[in-house]
Amino acid sequence: MDDKMIRTRIAPSPTGLMHIGTARTALFNELFARKTGGKFIVRIEDTDRERSKKEYEQIILDGLRWLGLTWDEGPDIGGDFGPYRQSERGAMYRGALEKLLAQDSAYPVEDGEAIRLRVPPEDVVFNDLIRGEVTVNPETWGGDFVIARSLDDPVFHLAVVVDDAAQAISHVIRGEDHLTNTARHILLQRALGLPMPQYAHLPLLLDKSRRKLSKRTGEVNLLAYRDRGFLPEAMLNYLALLGWNPKSDEEFFSHDQLREKFELAGVQKGGAIFDETKLGAFNKHYLRQLTREELLEKARPWLKKAGYIIDDERYWRDALAVEQARAATLEELASGVSFFSPDWPGDYSPSLLVWRDSNEKETKEIIGQLKDFLDELGDNVWTEQTLKDTLMSWVEEKGLKRGNTLWPLRVALTGRENSPGPFETAAVLGKARTLERLDGAFKKITRGV
Ligand code: GLU
Repeated sequence: MDDKMIRTRIAPSPTGLMHIGTARTALFNELFARKTGGKFIVRIEDTDRERSKKEYEQIILDGLRWLGLTWDEGPDIGGDFGPYRQSERGAMYRGALEKLLAQDSAYPVEDGEAIRLRVPPEDVVFNDLIRGEVTVNPETWGGDFVIARSLDDPVFHLAVVVDDAAQAISHVIRGEDHLTNTARHILLQRALGLPMPQYAHLPLLLDKSRRKLSKRTGEVNLLAYRDRGFLPEAMLNYLALLGWNPKSDEEFFSHDQLREKFELAGVQKGGAIFDETKLGAFNKHYLRQLTREELLEKARPWLKKAGYIIDDERYWRDALAVEQARAATLEELASGVSFFSPDWPGDYSPSLLVWRDSNEKETKEIIGQLKDFLDELGDNVWTEQTLKDTLMSWVEEKGLKRGNTLWPLRVALTGRENSPGPFETAAVLGKARTLERLDGAFKKITRGV
């Protein structure tokens, strides 16, 4: 193998759901590997036997796949440097521990409950590709530290160091919270005579009040965003900008563009703020890019979940297009188009039909007239523009007020205070349904406000 081959890895512990921070770290590692023609590896760090669960491993891999990340070696696909789960690499850790004990770099603690590494009382100095020279005093963690509970039970520090060397990892790109761990890992590398990879510590993810992002202040579970109808393209694009500056005014990048542009030199030191509203704006952007066909395919699970009947695909494509520019997520989109559902119950309050300058009696008359007028129109008029032209000249001829007429029409069709305009809505609903709904509104207001 070529010594200079770039190899990066994401090394998640399967002890919980897929965290947004893990996703961002994985993405940066993948982008750096792709940009440099290197390899990106997934390694499952399940040394903590009690807390590690197979289902979490699955969730983490699902999250990586959902984002569209690709890896060259991993627990699911194998590779020349496997196995890719620490629970399957025990012999290697045992060998390293035996070596450290034999050369007296490590010693068992009296009661035999742990093995500690001897740490010289000197600063550990290393170069970080993002932060420059970093100095850590081993006193920070109290000097000698535990590297195993027993020969067959190594802790994270030992396993990571052995694996990074055995898997020829050239760059360790991980969160800033690992800075002092890196100093420990360097001490272990020295004791074991292993090469030192290059380190790059990514800035912390913060919430809007600049506190460390946590589930107490926001949603940190990556797949919860998937389940609320965020698009992976939007999430990926947004995550890429959490700490990385593309040095251009453009902020929308496809995965391929990111793979070309990404540079560690563009990563900032200061914390990066995760803002769900901003993510929503990215998602809105990507939703708008979808063709009608794509939009229906992506929205379909949400439409189904909402219980709408989707027998007429063309109808739903039109309906979704009406709301496409308004919704931030697929979930919002599905609730936004609820009134297009063929079995919409029309369960709004009759008082909503009355425009603020009007009254019940007048509204009832207008709805009646609207019904008669629209009933006379031919099918060829049933497009947004012609409906608009025809209806507006009718309103003028009759000397009606716009608000008094268009408001009840819109409410009759959507049952909402805020909704798309009456012409585009009527155009999608079609003549029969529009008349049916006006009839419903007429009956409702007749029964009384
Ligand atoms: N298993 C560690 C974690 O989940 C990975 C640390 C590393 O990247 O070395 O934080």
